[in-house]
Amino acid sequence: MADDVQTPKLREALRGLPAYRPGKIPDASAFKLSSNENPYPPLPGVLEAVRESAENFNRYPDMGVSALSAEIAKRFGVPVEHVATGTGSVGVAQQLLQATSGPGDEVIYAWRSFEAYPIITQISGATSVRVPLTRDERHDLDAMAAAVTDRTRLIFVCNPNNPTGAAIHHDELVRFLDRVPQDVLVVLDEAYREFVRDPGVPDGLELYRDRPNVAVLRTFSKAYGLAGLRVGFAVAHEPVAEALRATAVPFGVNSLAQVAAVESLRAEAALFERCEALVQERTRVLAALREQGWTVTDSQANFVWLRLGERTMDFAAKAEVAGVVVRPFAGEGARITIGEVEANDIFLRVASEFRD
Ligand SMILES: *Cc1c(COP(=O)(O)O)cnc(C)c1O
Repeated sequence: MADDVQTPKLREALRGLPAYRPGKIPDASAFKLSSNENPYPPLPGVLEAVRESAENFNRYPDMGVSALSAEIAKRFGVPVEHVATGTGSVGVAQQLLQATSGPGDEVIYAWRSFEAYPIITQISGATSVRVPLTRDERHDLDAMAAAVTDRTRLIFVCNPNNPTGAAIHHDELVRFLDRVPQDVLVVLDEAYREFVRDPGVPDGLELYRDRPNVAVLRTFSKAYGLAGLRVGFAVAHEPVAEALRATAVPFGVNSLAQVAAVESLRAEAALFERCEALVQERTRVLAALREQGWTVTDSQANFVWLRLGERTMDFAAKAEVAGVVVRPFAGEGARITIGEVEANDIFLRVASEFRD
C-alpha cells in the first residue's frame, strides 16, 4: 500500500490497547483451568428451557429483559428498578464506564486485578489509576481511598479479587466506602460471590442499600455456569441503573441467555450444590499445596493463585505438558481454576514436582 493512502481516523484512546487474553483453548485431551469457568455441564432443566426457546430465535429478545429482571429482583430482594442486565458483567462494567467516565477522568482499581478493567477503562478514554495490592495479595483500600482526586469518577473493587482470590472484609470495606466522595461511583465486582465461605466477607447487596454511589456487579458466568451465553447484571440505585439501561446495546442480552438465567435462578439449589463441591475441592487443593510447602493465599473464589515470579511461564508450560492449561501472568504468578477432580489432581502433581 502506498504511504499516502488514508485510513479511517480511529480514536486516540485505542492506541496501544492491551488485548484481552482469553484463557487458552487447550487441545481436546487437556483440562482448561485458565478461565474460571464452571466445569459442570448445563443442568438438564436449563438446557431444556434453552432448547425450547431456541425454536423462536427468529424473533428479537425481550428488549426490557423483564422476566429476568423481575426474577433477579425477587431473588435478591431489591426493587426491579435497581436491576440492570448486560452482556456479561464485563458488558455492564463497560456501560458503567460509558455512563461515568471519559477523557480527563480517572478510574481507580487495584493491581493486579481483573484484566478487563484496564482495557475497558482505556476504551472509555479515561485514565487508569492502579493501586498495588498489599504484600498479602489484598486490596490496599487505604491507598485506594487516598488515590481519589477531583477527577475520579469510578472505582472498581473486586471482591474476592481475580486473580489472587483474596477477599475484603466488612469493616474495612465500610471504612473505605465512608471515605469515598458520594459523587464517585464504587463498583463492587462480586463475580465469585457464590464461592465465598468466609463470613467476614460482606454481601455488596447489603452495602449498596443506603449508598447511592455503590453498584454491585454479579454474573451468571461462573457459579451459574452460563459463561457461553453472556449475561450479567448490576444492582444500583435508580440514577445509575437508569444510566445502565440507557447505555445498553439494544437487545444485547439474547433470548437464550434470558431464559437460561431465569431457569438458573430457579434451579439455584442444584447449582449451589455444585458450587459447594467446588469449594470443597478448593479446600482440598489449598491444603495439599500447603502440605507441599507452598505459601498460598486463602481463596474465596473458584481458583487459586501461585505467586511464582520469574518461574511463572515455566510452570505454565510444565502444567500444559501434564495436561492442564492454567492462566499465567508473566513475571507475577499463575491462576489455576478449580475444575474437575482429575484436573485438580494433575495440577497438584505438577505443583509438587515443581517444588522438588
Ligand atoms: C469472570 C469475571 C467476571 C464475569 O465476566 P462476564 O462478563 O460476566 O462473563 C466479572 N468480573 C470478574 C472479576 C471476573 O473474574
